Amino acid sequence: MAKKLIILLLLLLPLYSFSQGAHFRDRQMMVKSQLEPRGISHEATLKAMKTVPRHLYVPDEYQRWAYMDRPLPIGYGQTISQPYMVAYMTEIVNPGPNDRVLEIGTGSGYQAAILAEIVDQVFTIEIVPELGKRSKEILQKNYNNVHVKIADGYYGWEEEGPFDAIVVTAAAEYIPPALIKQLKEGGKMIIPVGSPFMVQQLVLVKKEDGQVFSQNLMPVRFVPFTRDD
Ligand code: SAH
Repeated sequence: MAKKLIILLLLLLPLYSFSQGAHFRDRQMMVKSQLEPRGISHEATLKAMKTVPRHLYVPDEYQRWAYMDRPLPIGYGQTISQPYMVAYMTEIVNPGPNDRVLEIGTGSGYQAAILAEIVDQVFTIEIVPELGKRSKEILQKNYNNVHVKIADGYYGWEEEGPFDAIVVTAAAEYIPPALIKQLKEGGKMIIPVGSPFMVQQLVLVKKEDGQVFSQNLMPVRFVPFTRDD
């Protein structure tokens, strides 16, 4: 009996470790080939990208493409950004272990999971109820420091602010004033700005000595920032 059990375990073990290892290796490869060569160097960001199982945040039919250098559809006309863009937007706000961070556009929940690995508290807002519910489920299963709200992120999350960093993952025509207000002194916000379905600018906003500075970083293409009405 014991012998049979050992044989069974020996047979199952390689299968198990292969299935775990395959994605583990995919993540290491993703970091080595897509992130490091393009200059991502923030240690905590790289560690989070190596840790979070991106395949669990995309719809089943796209799981095998989860670690490729491309965005993927997540339903409801929305997309999860390519891994590099997630890493770049995370690194640029320089998140630290004691930070409170606001994300607008939860989508799949992947960017929120990356942030949750690095900072103290993540607040994330999604306007599409179905996406909000789906990502809330997976995020709450894996993290106790992520708070998901289904609402129009235009108004931010005033009761929980101000925030050390704000990450906006949908392209707005202009920077919502409430978000600037909810950014802490010394804080950073990253936001794509521009018209829907055109090339937009990824903008870094900093608040220093009560003044707001913004800097265009690169042309990007994001899904539009929509409004409740
Ligand atoms: N960060 C996401 C990217 C999702 S795409 C991820 O890691 O998967 C951008 C998301 O922003 C979409 O899910 C879209 O529904 C959402 N969105 C667009 N306008 C919004 C708004 N006003 N408030 C909150 N979410 C919004």
